[in-house]
Parts: sequence; C-alpha cells; structure tokens
Amino acid sequence: EEYRAQGRRPPNLLVCGTPGTGKTSLCEELAQRTGWTHIDISALALRRQLHEGYDDSRQTHILDEDAVLDELDDANQVNIMQGGFIVDYHGCDFFPERFFDLVLILRAENNILWERLEARGYPQTKVQENVEAEIMQVVLEEARESYKHEIIQELPSNTLDDHEANLERISQWLLAHMEQAPR
Ligand code: ADP
Ligand code: MN
Repeated sequence: EEYRAQGRRPPNLLVCGTPGTGKTSLCEELAQRTGWTHIDISALALRRQLHEGYDDSRQTHILDEDAVLDELDDANQVNIMQGGFIVDYHGCDFFPERFFDLVLILRAENNILWERLEARGYPQTKVQENVEAEIMQVVLEEARESYKHEIIQELPSNTLDDHEANLERISQWLLAHMEQAPR
C-alpha cells in the first residue's frame, strides 16, 4: 500500500492550530487518502469523558491531559507508537515528543477566522479570544517550545485552494518519509 512501507512504522502527524483554522476538515480528508486513523482529541474527550471540569470564564471543557495520554498510549486500545495516526487538537505541548514525526500548524487570517468562529455560534468574547490567540501565534510558539523545529510546518488554511495545496504537500511529505531507510 502506498502509505505503508516495509520495515518502518508509518509516521504520526499532529495537526494543531487555533480553533477554526481547519484541522478537522484537513485531518478527515488526510485519513481518507492514507487509510490512517484520525483522532480528534476534543471529540475523543467528550466520548470517553476525559475532562476535569468546565472553565466557565473560557466556556470550554478542561481536558484531563493524563487521561488522554493514557488513552493514546494504551497497548490494549490505541497504541499510537505503532504509527499511522493523525492527531487533531488545538494545543500541542502536553504530548510526549516521541509521539510525532511531523507537527503541522494551520494558520488563518483574522477576518476569515472571525467569520468561521461566528458561524460556529461561538459567543463574541470567545471569538475574540481565539482570533487574538491566532494573532499572537500562541500555538506556533507552543510547538516551537515542544518539538524540534525541523519537524514543524506552518500551513496557510484560508481557502479551498490552500486546503488542496496542503493535502498535496502533506502527501508528498509522507511518501518521502516512507521512502527513507528504516530506522
Ligand atoms: P478546526 O477543526 O480547526 O476547529 P474545522 O475543520 O472545523 O476547524 O473548520 C472550521 C470551518 O472552516 C469549517 O466550516 C470548514 O469547512 C472551514 N474550513 C476549514 N478549512 C478551510 C479552508 N482551507 N478553506 C475554506 N474553509 C475552510
Ligand atoms: Mn476540530
């Protein structure tokens, strides 16, 4: 199979970015193309009740990070170290570095992000908070503090053309990665 090579585990991808930058749309399509497993951490946390409570001021669930890591690194269920996982979450600093071979940071322009978050029904304060986080490059900085710079890729995610270009770039990267000598 195209995205599975002999002797080397398939890579794991982490797709991060401010809410609304297009992580889930991209990951779903990538999973379809590669046959790999998409894990949307927010959806997983809701499904498996991996929360420590609710933050009223930020209007968001508080992720139980240790419980999520247990879930991803559980030999009996998901064993992420086997490779072939596409993990989708806005943040990136609580995963062990060894999980990922490539970290993608999706970026969107302020006005575009604003419209997407409004369309999602977020209250104004939450829209503003997220757009400000995007302007401050919070997720990108977090990635730079957590992973080797050479595995971090920033990708624009404003238009459908961007979406297509990103899929193409990532596919090329995956194929190149699979052709490298086994570790
Ligand atoms: P996230 O998972 O990062 O919160 P989503 O994938 O849910 O973001 O995307 C948020 C909204 O933006 C959706 O309505 C989606 O269709 C749209 N969207 C995502 N990526 C793009 C893109 N590259 N071009 C245009 N619209 C996009
Ligand atoms: Mn999402």
